Amino acid sequence: MQVVMAFDQGTTSSRAILFDHSGSIVGVAQREFEQHYPQSGWVEHDANEIWKTQLAVGREVLEQTGVSGQDVVAIGITNQRETTVVWDRTTGQPIANAIVWQDRRTAEYCDKLREAGHADQVQAKTGLVIDAYFCATKIRWILENVPDAKGRAERGELAFGTIDSWLLWNLTAGRVHATDVTNASRTMLLNIESCQWDDDLLDLFEIPRSMLPEVLPSSHVYGESNAELLGAAIKLGGAAGDQQSALFGQNCTEHGMAKNTYGTGCFMLMNVGDTPVPSKCKLLTTVACGLEQASQYALEGSVFIAGAAIQWLRDGVQMIDSAPEVEGLAASVPDSDGVYMVPAFAGLGAPYWDAYARGAIVGINRGTTRAHIARAALEGIAFQVADVLDAMKTDSGMPMTELRVDGGASANDLLMQFQSDISQVPVIRPKVIETTALGAAFLAGLAVGFWNSPEEITGVWQTDRVFEPKMSVDEVTHRRTRWQDALGRSRHWEPAS
Ligand code: ADP
Repeated sequence: MQVVMAFDQGTTSSRAILFDHSGSIVGVAQREFEQHYPQSGWVEHDANEIWKTQLAVGREVLEQTGVSGQDVVAIGITNQRETTVVWDRTTGQPIANAIVWQDRRTAEYCDKLREAGHADQVQAKTGLVIDAYFCATKIRWILENVPDAKGRAERGELAFGTIDSWLLWNLTAGRVHATDVTNASRTMLLNIESCQWDDDLLDLFEIPRSMLPEVLPSSHVYGESNAELLGAAIKLGGAAGDQQSALFGQNCTEHGMAKNTYGTGCFMLMNVGDTPVPSKCKLLTTVACGLEQASQYALEGSVFIAGAAIQWLRDGVQMIDSAPEVEGLAASVPDSDGVYMVPAFAGLGAPYWDAYARGAIVGINRGTTRAHIARAALEGIAFQVADVLDAMKTDSGMPMTELRVDGGASANDLLMQFQSDISQVPVIRPKVIETTALGAAFLAGLAVGFWNSPEEITGVWQTDRVFEPKMSVDEVTHRRTRWQDALGRSRHWEPAS
C-alpha cells in the first residue's frame, strides 16, 4: 500500500499522519513538546526539540502501521506559521530558541514603525498589518540580541527559516534551504505581488538577504529526505502554513470558496483567485496554495475566542462537564430568549481589532437559565464568524457560495446550523476534518503524481453534512442588529493604560 505522510508541526505538538490514495487516514502519531515562557509576553520553542519530536512521530507512525519508508511516496509539511528560527549554516544549530508567533516582545518596536508612518507601505507590499506576530521583527530581535549575530549574518554564516524551512533543512541534512510561498507570505518580508523577497523591507528591518531561504511553490519537490531518517529517501513534495494548508485540504481552490476552522479561536480564509485583494476591512491578504508557479491569494481573518468560550462554560463557570455537552444544553431551549454573549475575553480580532473589549452577557431576565447562556455562547461564536465573513465579501466583492468547516467545535450541529442561518450560506462539513494535514498530503501527493490533478483531489474530498440556511431574512436582520448592540456594550471596556 502506498501512502503520503503529512508532517503537521503545530504550536503544542508534532504529528505525523499517513493518508492513502482515497484520502483516508491510515495512522497517526503525536508528541507534545515544551513551551518556554522566559518573560511575560515571550513564548519560545527549542527548535531541536521540534525537529526531534517531528522525526520521532514520523518513525512511530510507520512502526505502528507496518508501512515501510519505501511505500511513502512523499512527505508534505504543514506548520505553525510565523514562528522564527535562526541557525548556523555550518553546524546546523539554532543560535537562539525559536520565537513563537504568539510572542509579543517586538510589539513596541512595531508601534514605533507605525508611528514612523510605515504601515501603508508594509501593507501594500506584504498584505499584512505591522504586528509582532510576523517574522520580520523577530529575526531583527535575534540579530540585535544574540552576541555577534548581526556580524555573522552579514558574513553569510546564518540562515533564517520558518518551521517548514527548518524541517526541510534537517530532513536533507542542510542540502535544502527553502520555504514555501505561503509561509514566506507571513514573514512581512515578501512582496506578495511578485512572490519575491523585498529589498526595501529587508533594509527597513536590517535583515541581510543571504539569511533567507529560496521561495518555492507549495506543491513542489524540494528534495529527498536522507535515507537513514525514515528507512528510505522520501520525496519532500509540499509545504504550506497551517491555515493555507487547511484551505487547500478543504479543496477551496476556486475564488469565492472559504473555510473556517472552529478551534480555540476561529481562522477563516477565503480564496480570492490569482490577484491579491487589498483589505479595507482590516483583514490580512495572504498567499494561498497554488500549484507550481500559479499563485493564489486569500483574505484571512481570525476570531480569538471561539471554542474557548465553551471551555469557559466548562472550566470557568462549570456549567457543563465536557465541551460536547453544550449542544444538548443549548438545544433544550428554542432560542436564547434575547440573551447575547460577546466572548471578547481577550479583546476582539478581525474586523474590529479592539484590544480593550472584554466579554459581556447582556439581555438577562428573570427567566434566563443556563441553557439560554449556553445557547448565547454558541451563537456568539457564530456571530463573530459572520462579521468576518461579511468583511471578506465586502473586500473581495465576491459572493460567498459556501463555507467549509473543520476544527473541534465544527462537530456541533446546532452551532453549524446557526452559522448557516445567520450567514445565509450553506455550511459544509467534510468527512475528514483533519483538513490541515490532508492539505499538506494533497500538495505533496500532487507534486509526485500520486494524485494526478486537482480534479482528482476534488473527488477525494467528501462531504459529511450540509447545513442549509433556514432562518427568515427578517429574523437574521433582527438578530444581527441585536448582536451589534451587544457588541457595542463590550467594546473599549478596559481603560487604555
Ligand atoms: P485547537 O486546535 O485550537 O486546540 P480543536 O480543533 O482541538 O482546537 O477544538 C477544541 C475546541 O473546540 C475547544 O475550545 C472546545 O471547547 C471546542 N469544542 C470541542 N467540542 C465541541 C462541541 N461539541 N461544541 C462546541 N465546542 C466544542
